[in-house]
Amino acid sequence: MKITVGHLYPSYLNIYADRGNIAVLTRRAALRGHELALDAIGLGDELRPGAHDLLYIGGGQDREQALIAPDLAGKGAAIRDAVGAGCSLLAVCGGYQLLGRGYWGRDGLFMPGAELFPHETVAGTTRMIGDVLLECELDPGTRRTLVGFENHAGQTTLDRGATPLGRVIHGFGNDGESGYEGCRVEAAIGTYLHGPLLPRNPWLADWILARALGHATGGEPARLEPLPDELEAAAHRVASERARARGGRSR
Ligand code: GLN
Repeated sequence: MKITVGHLYPSYLNIYADRGNIAVLTRRAALRGHELALDAIGLGDELRPGAHDLLYIGGGQDREQALIAPDLAGKGAAIRDAVGAGCSLLAVCGGYQLLGRGYWGRDGLFMPGAELFPHETVAGTTRMIGDVLLECELDPGTRRTLVGFENHAGQTTLDRGATPLGRVIHGFGNDGESGYEGCRVEAAIGTYLHGPLLPRNPWLADWILARALGHATGGEPARLEPLPDELEAAAHRVASERARARGGRSR
């Protein structure tokens, strides 16, 4: 199968090698006999209905965010429609912030968001930096952990009833207070976790890939053959230990 990925603003939002997430998805798809086709979506480009099985947006500093925010807000309806039609999505940090209602940046500038995730972000005065360990339950009854690295001044507040990506075990998460990290709407995941995120968390890569494949075939999330993932498991273990030893706030 061919899985088409719409990569939003790749030349503006790619801090901490977030593009590595795409490399992981490409490789894990290829190992199962599928091809990932990349479509870069920049300022002024149209988001064609049904054109993508997965949308991806990385992180960036306030300066880059301000440059793309109005354009991204203009694509909001198309992004919400795509996710409503089963397209999967992964958004990291700066991209995650701008897929909410908006981000009040450091200088008080309001950057409008795409209004996919029910949240709002305000820049705080201290940065939340460190390794993070989360516990997630994306599929009811199956708890798994995610590890990553966070570095953000923005404090994201989820609306009442919104679904977080996970519960913080070590680290700051959305706002350093609530104990929650990230947000989920259907097959769309937003998170502060960089690293890049997917090399150390192969289960999440496959969760996203299965849904993107389901969208490509017009069916249910695909069943993917398991991969050995020994190196990935070792990387996950090392990162978990680091989060335990030196993550932000521990619970
Ligand atoms: N500029 C945003 C913040 O500091 C996002 C930074 C990032 O993507 N790492 O909150």
